[in-house]
Amino acid sequence: MGLSPRPWDAVIVGAGPAGCHAAWTLGKLGYRVLLLDRAHFPRWKPCAGGITVKAAPYIPMELQELFELTIDRALLAYGPERRTLIRTRRPVAWTVHRESFDAAHLELVGGIESVSIQQGCGVVGIEEDADHVRVLTESGPVTARAVIGADGVESVVTRCLPGWEDREFVTAFEGEAWLDTAEEELPVLFDLRSFPGGYGWAFPKRGRCSIGGYVDRQQEQRPRDAYASFVGSWPELASCETYRQRGFRLPVGGTRRQLARGRVILAGDAADAVDPITGEGIAYAFMTGHLAAQTVHRFLARGEGMEGYTWRLWRRFHGPFRVARKLAELLYNHPRTGFSIIFRNRILCSLFVRVVRGELGYVGMLARAALSGPLLPFYHRRGARIVVDLS
Ligand SMILES: Cc1cc2nc3c(=O)[nH]c(=O)nc-3n(C[C@H](O)[C@H](O)[C@H](O)COP(=O)(O)OP(=O)(O)OC[C@H]3O[C@@H](n4cnc5c(N)ncnc54)[C@H](O)[C@@H]3O)c2cc1C
Repeated sequence: MGLSPRPWDAVIVGAGPAGCHAAWTLGKLGYRVLLLDRAHFPRWKPCAGGITVKAAPYIPMELQELFELTIDRALLAYGPERRTLIRTRRPVAWTVHRESFDAAHLELVGGIESVSIQQGCGVVGIEEDADHVRVLTESGPVTARAVIGADGVESVVTRCLPGWEDREFVTAFEGEAWLDTAEEELPVLFDLRSFPGGYGWAFPKRGRCSIGGYVDRQQEQRPRDAYASFVGSWPELASCETYRQRGFRLPVGGTRRQLARGRVILAGDAADAVDPITGEGIAYAFMTGHLAAQTVHRFLARGEGMEGYTWRLWRRFHGPFRVARKLAELLYNHPRTGFSIIFRNRILCSLFVRVVRGELGYVGMLARAALSGPLLPFYHRRGARIVVDLS
């Protein structure tokens, strides 16, 4: 493969947001890093491309130029007849095209002197001994002092750690469409009626739109039919010409399994870092990429064991996601009631937006909702179209 036979400080498997950010962090600290991906970039990644502001501290300035639209309003609906338009004074998210965003991210990381990149290089297994890890690739083995598995939802690296068989998944069905509608006519859309056990979405970008659905795997369903009826029911989407349609898996956050052991550590989708209610994973990929790299740094520099990482991720993500799993079950099994209670209420909408912005966790959201209990009826709104201004 033409790469140094000398052991690398770290081999990172997968060059999505988690792997690139981990490589960026370790590379800036001067470590010799090999970043491997089985794909050649730009590669297609099924994703609506909504990046919430939680990720902002981790995204280099150069990549912020690739943001397509700023999201400061969203249409929450139960079919086109029942809708709430939420406006926020500060942005909640941005949209990106994952192909170009991820390719630019990789190029940026490639600019760091101590980072080497190998594309088109699939990893097939990992062998660990006391001193090193051997990463087995389709082009031969490489050796490292530590390995970060950032190889996405179908991760190979995750299989070296116990409990991977118990991972839970949801299905996401997505199509890409050319957008005729002017951007201002179509805000980001979430429709609780269209996909049983989940929600339908539309994320507009410049001239294009990702349309899809997020569905609990337990539900009896035919996502392709649900997709067609979702698109058909919204006049703003019905005229869109879809050019790519497929179903994918997403890991469900709230996992209790081990996410680091010995010299191997996981980040992003490989570590199940996905919000069970929204399906959001990009911001968590950046965050876990960062935390994994810091953990590897402490291991390489001071010999500190990496096992504490599992607990850190539990406290920050997976513990709160456990609560979110229960909320998702309630909301998606009773979508009409859920819509009427939450998305017709100014206080509850505001709390939910604060969670998405990362200002509040799910537990904090529930506590505040309980404290606001007696006030909630006064903030309930009726009508086909409501604008809620949130600070
Ligand atoms: C339909 C859909 C819509 C979504 N929409 C959103 C959204 O709007 N907002 C949001 O925040 N999240 C969204 N997500 C989730 C988001 O896409 C992921 O959480 C995020 O991409 C995870 O980043 P990652 O770096 O962990 O993995 P990935 O971005 O999946 O990158 C993993 C990389 O590893 C490589 N790889 C895999 N296996 C190997 C191997 N064996 N050897 C070498 N390389 C390998 C892959 O080629 C890939 O480049 C969506 C997901 C889906 C499926």
